[in-house]
Amino acid sequence: MEIVFNEVEHRYMEGTPFEKVALQDCTIRIPSGSFTAVIGHTGSGKSTLIQHINGLLRPTKGTVQIGPYELKAEKKKIDIRALRQQVGLVFQYPEHQLFEETVAKDICFGPMNFGVPFERALKRAKELLPQVGLPEEILTASPFELSGGQMRRVAIAGVLASQPKVLVLDEPAASLDPEGHEQIMRLFVDYHHQQQTTTVLVTHHMEDAARYADQIIVLHEGKVEMAGGREIIFEQAERLREIGLDLPAPVRFLEQIKQRFALADIPKYYELER
Ligand code: ADP
Repeated sequence: MEIVFNEVEHRYMEGTPFEKVALQDCTIRIPSGSFTAVIGHTGSGKSTLIQHINGLLRPTKGTVQIGPYELKAEKKKIDIRALRQQVGLVFQYPEHQLFEETVAKDICFGPMNFGVPFERALKRAKELLPQVGLPEEILTASPFELSGGQMRRVAIAGVLASQPKVLVLDEPAASLDPEGHEQIMRLFVDYHHQQQTTTVLVTHHMEDAARYADQIIVLHEGKVEMAGGREIIFEQAERLREIGLDLPAPVRFLEQIKQRFALADIPKYYELER
């Protein structure tokens, strides 16, 4: 499903003394089936941007088109339930959203909410467990008996069980150690390839953007600073540094090589050879 932001503005608390412009003139195209990272400093507008993708927020100017669904400032009626069925949202600490008495009920909650009968939802839950790295026995456990890592996987399975076409991930590996971080990210990457979802990952880790995303959107002070393919973004290393974003290790490595060896060094190389 393609996602298009057209000259989007988002103003919080419009018309009050606390009014805040969080997004301004944002025009972006997120291609269907892409893995897009949204990066930027705290306060740059990442969360505000992605909350437009499932209609949690509406633009105060401009339009957001998610497949056949269009959101705009005028409260035109759209089928928000149908939109949310297509867009799975994984927040930071998704385990905080668990509330049922068994893991099975928690995973099935989403699909049942969208009208899938319990038996079918349970079948999907069973299929999903190995994908998220959990054993089938866990279905009868209480989510609150589980370790933090297991709880997070259950919560993620709950989102995937609705079979969303768009997956929006807001720092889904927050606070995990490097191994846990890699495992959770790998799970999403595998799901993305299998289901060909349009995946949008919010992260402040440049390494994640470089490693997993094919498209990158850089936000700075509520505006789109850069958007495009990974290589195009990392070519603008100087600007990224100016707005305080770290470069990923491979780009830093290439820069070091370039600094040490210029094309002018070629004659020196042959001298060394002699
Ligand atoms: P990020 O996710 O990049 O940290 P946010 O989208 O959370 O950025 O915030 C963008 C700007 O909007 C910030 O200045 C933030 O303080 C402000 N903001 C976010 N949420 C609200 C809100 N509910 N009410 C008022 N201002 C908000």
